[in-house]
Amino acid sequence: MEIKSLFNLDPNVKVRTRFAPSPTGYLHVGGARTALYSWLYAKHNQGEFVLRIEDTDLERSTQQATDAILDSMAWLGLSWEHGPYYQTKRFDRYNEVIDQMLEQGLAYRCYCSKERLEALREEQEKNKEKPRYDRHCLHDHSHDPSEPHVVRFKNPTEGSVIFEDAVRGKIEISNGELDDLIIRRTDGSPTYNFCVVVDDWDMGITHVIRGEDHINNTPRQINILKALNAPIPQYAHVSMILGDDGQKLSKRHGAVSVMQYRDEGYLPEALLNYLVRLGWGHGDQEVFSIEEMIKYFDIHGVSRSASAFNTEKLLWLNHHYIRELPAEKVASYLEWHMQDQQINAENGPALTEIVKALGERCKTLKEMAAASRYFFEDFSEFDEAAVKKHFKAAAIEPLQKVLEKLRALPEWDGHAIHQQIEDTAAELEVGMGKVGMPLRVAVTGAGQSPSLDITMQLIGRDRCLTRIQQAIEFIENKVASAQ
Ligand code: GLU
Repeated sequence: MEIKSLFNLDPNVKVRTRFAPSPTGYLHVGGARTALYSWLYAKHNQGEFVLRIEDTDLERSTQQATDAILDSMAWLGLSWEHGPYYQTKRFDRYNEVIDQMLEQGLAYRCYCSKERLEALREEQEKNKEKPRYDRHCLHDHSHDPSEPHVVRFKNPTEGSVIFEDAVRGKIEISNGELDDLIIRRTDGSPTYNFCVVVDDWDMGITHVIRGEDHINNTPRQINILKALNAPIPQYAHVSMILGDDGQKLSKRHGAVSVMQYRDEGYLPEALLNYLVRLGWGHGDQEVFSIEEMIKYFDIHGVSRSASAFNTEKLLWLNHHYIRELPAEKVASYLEWHMQDQQINAENGPALTEIVKALGERCKTLKEMAAASRYFFEDFSEFDEAAVKKHFKAAAIEPLQKVLEKLRALPEWDGHAIHQQIEDTAAELEVGMGKVGMPLRVAVTGAGQSPSLDITMQLIGRDRCLTRIQQAIEFIENKVASAQ
């Protein structure tokens, strides 16, 4: 009987890729890039993308990590056509295939004790041989399957496994280097490499794009696929991402998890653009929309050398997208940061206006939310340095005068506000800054803001007038107490 794949797959789909994270931690940027490359390759080829959660390591897998992976994929917008599949829900299937392999002589039961295996290894090491199982149980039929045993795959002994890696080129491993891999443990659970093989086969995966740390597993997986008469996917092993100091990327380089980038105020568009360029290029183009990535991406163009993470460049891209994406889109991401910083976004101007006003000066949304607080909340303190510089006795008169003019304005709009500042300066025969700077500190609490006309228009009439009055009193008190 032929062993058959279970899934009913659309034969018209020519490319099917997968992302298969182990839920033992958050999704880090390296994993996200692998996911992106797999996703892009599927999209570029009108194919399908499968999400599979490899949770067979029960001790290290957590629901929290699974949720973090799903959240990260959703935030990045990497959607899947199939899944998420969970390996722990497929144990019956893996065992069914193992039983069929046993029946067909593609695998065998091994009853060797730990002690025997250890003695064997010591002997082989002493003789300077590569430690490997000696196939004792393949030929010994004295045991009964009710006795404790593992199941081993009967790896070919002759020839070699050759495959063409889309990133690394031709790779050849002699079968003499490979052991008879355990595919089922004594407790009846299937092992990791075996689950991957059955999954890739069942799920009709045509292209396996994954991290280079899995390259050693590939020849073993190919041999099992061959034994099952399953098609062999095309493999592509993507290199590592290093920190900007050339060391393996880790927490000490700052953010490494995808969700941390969201928390730090990055846009998914910027992170995706940054990641796609990290090890892949299209001429000297730096900025790619998702559509352009899909259009141009080719796994064969991915570099085989490790790439170094450059936060400055990511920040540059983030600033680019803050300014270039539609304000509505940026505002929808900004909302999260407003909540995160406990600023009530209902209590002020529309967030799209904030994006337009602050986009030039804020490189992250976290920064933008923080910088927008005075649009939504009143404050009782002014920035100390700004007070020192701009809240002098000489500021009282310009503030009083401009307040009077602003009060009289029939319409609260930027142009009219600007005119009042100009008129005040002209009447008092002082420079614009002598009116504008104290006014800025009065309405925003600090010495820096976007142009005053738009800032004040967005803060709104009532709030501005109250704040100017409050500033005048503050300066008067300050001057009085200094005398
Ligand atoms: N679960 C593996 C990992 O998270 C990936 C295995 C694969 O892609 O084949 O590293």
